[in-house]
Amino acid sequence: MALIEERDVDEAVRLAVEAYQALGVAGHGDLVWGHVSVRDPRGRGFWMKASGLGFEEVVASRMLLVGLDGEVLEGTGPRHIEWPIHGEIFRLRPDVECVVHTHSAAANAFASLGVPLRALSHEGVLFAHPDVPRFLRTGGLVKTKDLGVGLATTLGDARACLMPRHGLVAVGETVATGVMAAVLLDKACRVQLAAMAAGEPISWSDEAEAASKRDEIWNPPLLESGWQYLRRKARAAAAAVETPPSELEWIEENSSRIRTSLPNGYCLRPADDTCPEPEDCLACSHFFTGGRFLPVHRQQAQTIDLLIARAEAEGLAAVANSHRRRGDRLKALIRSLEEPICTATTHSPDRNFGDGSARPGGAHRSAGETAARRAVDGPQGATSNGVSSSR
Ligand SMILES: [Zn+2]
Repeated sequence: MALIEERDVDEAVRLAVEAYQALGVAGHGDLVWGHVSVRDPRGRGFWMKASGLGFEEVVASRMLLVGLDGEVLEGTGPRHIEWPIHGEIFRLRPDVECVVHTHSAAANAFASLGVPLRALSHEGVLFAHPDVPRFLRTGGLVKTKDLGVGLATTLGDARACLMPRHGLVAVGETVATGVMAAVLLDKACRVQLAAMAAGEPISWSDEAEAASKRDEIWNPPLLESGWQYLRRKARAAAAAVETPPSELEWIEENSSRIRTSLPNGYCLRPADDTCPEPEDCLACSHFFTGGRFLPVHRQQAQTIDLLIARAEAEGLAAVANSHRRRGDRLKALIRSLEEPICTATTHSPDRNFGDGSARPGGAHRSAGETAARRAVDGPQGATSNGVSSSR
């Protein structure tokens, strides 16, 4: 059993995000095109990013769970049109846990020459003897099941396949090996392009040397070392960019439970459930803040205190009282968010809030607190920020 199958969904999503970021720092991005997928450990399909994002921009909250037939089972955002690449490879290759499709410029330049890939360097031994397969039916998008089956069949049991006039596809029995296959094929193409640009190569590994080097150089621990280096490089690149890490970490940790982002929290309503009150998210038991948006509420409370003081200074008692009532409700909301987790369960809130049983301000919120939330924050969701509030 491959390692990924023993991991939970959160781990699969985390690995998929890391695969995108690793490929990004390895120079495999093509603006917002290309995609990686990781097989869902529960057998529902695969995780891939929503379209419209560059590799470096991918975070867990933008990942979709897509069934093998293309249905979006979890997550929000548009699905990549080339999902059949992933669905059909996962269907035909039960050994594969990760599929990478990039628009590698080197792969396209090399494939255009129509010559065999030679083992000119260490990387080349992975894709020569036999020659790397090429999907020749089309250089266009692989957007139908038929083309997906064709590509998966051409790939066969190889670790990668060139897609002339389009890019490459690479697979791995782990995320590490899938990403490394894409990175190494790209480099093998670059080496041969450089050699052919300089002259006519006359020296490359024969079949015996290639087989030996595959074991010597590209054994699992060394592939893992390469993957770990790319992960470190990606983390260093991410750290150099000013992002709010605590928020990002929280979202990544909880991504598989988050249905929809809302202005002050998240909707955890099950994907197959319809929202009866899309205008009233804060009062819904599926609304979850994770306690992470307290600064927003505190800021609002401070503003209200200022308004009360100003109204009193101007002798506007009725206005001051109105602000005070609103402030009191907001402070009740803040207290409810600060309350200890429900004592009726020993579950951690971050791990078990999916059933609504153990989260601050969730299903155990009192009716008064619920009313306070509704009164204080008013309608949230679709109408306040344009984000669909039901999913
Ligand atoms: Zn493509």
